[in-house]
Amino acid sequence: MEVNQLPILSNVQVSARYWHMVVSAPGLVNRIQPGQFFNILCETTFPFLRRPFSIYRINKEEETIEFLYLVQGDGTKKMTEFKAGEKVDVFGPLGVGFTLEKDWETVLLLARGVGIATLAALAQEASNQNKKCIAILSARSHNDLLATETLQGLGAEVYKVTEEDGNSGVEYVEQLIENILAEQRVDAGFTCGSKRLSKLLQAVTRKYIIPSQIALEEHMACGMGACFACVCDIRSENATQSVRVCTEGPVFDLDKVVMA
Ligand SMILES: Cc1cc2nc3c(=O)[nH]c(=O)nc-3n(C[C@H](O)[C@H](O)[C@H](O)COP(=O)(O)OP(=O)(O)OC[C@H]3O[C@@H](n4cnc5c(N)ncnc54)[C@H](O)[C@@H]3O)c2cc1C
Repeated sequence: MEVNQLPILSNVQVSARYWHMVVSAPGLVNRIQPGQFFNILCETTFPFLRRPFSIYRINKEEETIEFLYLVQGDGTKKMTEFKAGEKVDVFGPLGVGFTLEKDWETVLLLARGVGIATLAALAQEASNQNKKCIAILSARSHNDLLATETLQGLGAEVYKVTEEDGNSGVEYVEQLIENILAEQRVDAGFTCGSKRLSKLLQAVTRKYIIPSQIALEEHMACGMGACFACVCDIRSENATQSVRVCTEGPVFDLDKVVMA
């Protein structure tokens, strides 16, 4: 991990709440794994702490990496002021990314909100490895389902559920997963962005004994394991163990994560 000043190629608003930033990252693109993140300096004065963002897409030919971000508070508001031609100060790549086993042929992604940004990079890698990807994308509205076309472009079978359409409830998504599993073999599940959907995937993948992984999005401070601001509980043997999401994660075996 290191601090880099990366040239911004574009930083544009892509919907009412989301922005998309592309940065030039030669030398980094071949060392990044989906699920890893960068800690971005939004402002040198306030907010002082960097903010963590997953890698949304990696373009190895053009040597660029992309971030998809939801404008939440001061840090992300500052990021919207970044201009093409300027440089952004990024710390990373950080954390442990997703694992895609060689013999997995079909993977199921269950993402909610900004979690879609995190799982999009995984869909890209699955497509590179000729694996089939089934993605259930959940959001408040169709406006927030930003990566749909990106995922479809990668060959993923995409199901969209939204509050707008009244079909994003856990019961509906559970039925959707059950239907998918009744029709096709799924070798692994991945989730990010929602506690209730993660709990659901944990229960379903336990029931069908399917390995699954989660990218946790805990609030973070240092991003490098020093401050312990982002600890969560993991089951190990018969005990629970506190781990740091920034260094031991953000990706964990979903079965082992203790869901509050
Ligand atoms: C590993 C990791 C990867 C992430 N990847 C992305 C990404 O790809 N795209 C993206 O848009 N966001 C992502 N996030 C969340 C992003 O870091 C926060 O939205 C951002 O830090 C908010 O900063 P802010 O200064 O704008 O808002 P703040 O003023 O810090 O917070 C504004 C609001 O957002 C909430 N918030 C802040 N951080 C988080 C968090 N980690 N999880 C849930 N709520 C939070 C606060 O409680 C508050 O209500 C990721 C977080 C982690 C830990």
